[in-house]
Amino acid sequence: MKIILAKPRGFCAGVERAIKCVEQAIERYGVPVYVLNDIVHNKAVVEDLRAKGAVFVKDMDDVPPGSHLLFSAHGVGPKRWDKAKDLNLEVIDATCPLVEKVHYEARSFASKEYTIVLIGEEGHDETVGTMGWAPDHIKLVISKEDVEALDIPDTSRLSYITQTTLSVEDCQEIIDALKERFPAIQGPPKADICYATSNRQAAVRAIAPEVDIVLVVGDRESANSTRLAEIAAEYHKPSYLISHAGMIEASWLDGVETVLLTSGASVPDSLVEDVIDYLRSRGPCELVERELARENVHFRLPAAIA
Ligand code: SF4
Repeated sequence: MKIILAKPRGFCAGVERAIKCVEQAIERYGVPVYVLNDIVHNKAVVEDLRAKGAVFVKDMDDVPPGSHLLFSAHGVGPKRWDKAKDLNLEVIDATCPLVEKVHYEARSFASKEYTIVLIGEEGHDETVGTMGWAPDHIKLVISKEDVEALDIPDTSRLSYITQTTLSVEDCQEIIDALKERFPAIQGPPKADICYATSNRQAAVRAIAPEVDIVLVVGDRESANSTRLAEIAAEYHKPSYLISHAGMIEASWLDGVETVLLTSGASVPDSLVEDVIDYLRSRGPCELVERELARENVHFRLPAAIA
């Protein structure tokens, strides 16, 4: 069997930074440090940090006053910041700088009294956080049908922003629909879908046509991992989103000669290596890494732990 390993895959700069934030906070302040929600959408990462002394909470009321609390890579709205202040918590902000860029755009358009169309998934941590920065201005859409249904009183002050982890193509279709319906709509100066999302998707699009099946390592909660599996399916290839090698069913591999293996931006490469080990355990494999783009992005840690 031939395994084509997509590159780039796995950890992006925002996820690397978020994980490092937790590790450095533990090193500097001792355990426990608290993390609101999952620091990134990957159970293996969360369990690893839990074992090191991080305590994950869904509710800030569960954090003892005076404790250190991390906000996750997906970001939060201002109400969370206010509440942290009320509870006398020391916040370490692990929000990805590329998500912060979208927060800034939301605040900026809102300050000019624009209506903001946010293209994003309802209930996703990032979307919830972004909406929090301009709750009275944002209308959420995720399809062209949603665009058709929009009711915009003043189309001369209208803008759009997007979640960072959408399908590039699907998002573009929605943006095109917005521009067709509202020609004066303004967008962000630079696309909100981040470099890591775009690169991982482009690699799948480039390689999927030449393989028999696609294995995407990532959790269901991870938007960018889910997108990779959906994009592979567009090429009419059997495509499976797996959290770990143990989820692979042997029958998926019957008659398969070539596999595309990739992973979402929150996935440690050790989980990909486990999949390679499993495939090798079934018989001889040729492993080829295909690099479609070079990534050299790094984000500085917050001052409190740098
Ligand atoms: S996927 Fe993109 S926006 Fe999300 S954490 Fe990674 S770099 Fe940041």
